[in-house]
Amino acid sequence: MIAVYPGSFDPITLGHLDVIERAGLLFERVIVAVLRNPNKVPLFTVSDRIAQITTATKHIPNVQVDSFSGLTVTYAKQKKAAVLIRGLRAVSDFELELQMAHTNKTLDENIETIFLSTSKEYSFLSSSVVKEIAKFSGPIEHLVPQNVAIALKNHFKDLAQDLAVSD
Ligand code: ADP
Repeated sequence: MIAVYPGSFDPITLGHLDVIERAGLLFERVIVAVLRNPNKVPLFTVSDRIAQITTATKHIPNVQVDSFSGLTVTYAKQKKAAVLIRGLRAVSDFELELQMAHTNKTLDENIETIFLSTSKEYSFLSSSVVKEIAKFSGPIEHLVPQNVAIALKNHFKDLAQDLAVSD
């Protein structure tokens, strides 16, 4: 069975990676699909995020990384996936995730959403938290894959230099 794990992954965190690793044990193939979302201004481009996820998941043989735009169920159907994976961190995620799962079910009744609860050490973790810490040069090595920690540091170093020049 093929599963699609859709999200922004801006950037991928160890929480996402934990979900991907566990999904990899459950499904024949897991497609991590980066949403091209015109409503969000991302930190990293879609191609940067694809490259980051590809590097971070290279130890998992049945993972594929892709991007998509439009409806998730349309993309899943195109990929012959019967399952959408979402992570649940806390009760606060539940309401929106349930609403999304129900909506997707009305759009395509053949596609199931399966929720994986996060490991408790990552239950507080989000891409936004990581970006906030990185912006202020805080430690992020325990929160994101190594290649992402490097990319974040480089991004904010360049930004600090640009700001210093424009001061
Ligand atoms: P989106 O913008 O679609 O919420 P995210 O990249 O923030 O995209 O999240 C993608 C999926 O990963 C969501 O199902 C989210 O609940 C889940 N997720 C986010 N952070 C974590 C984490 N720390 N541990 C496990 N799952 C997570």
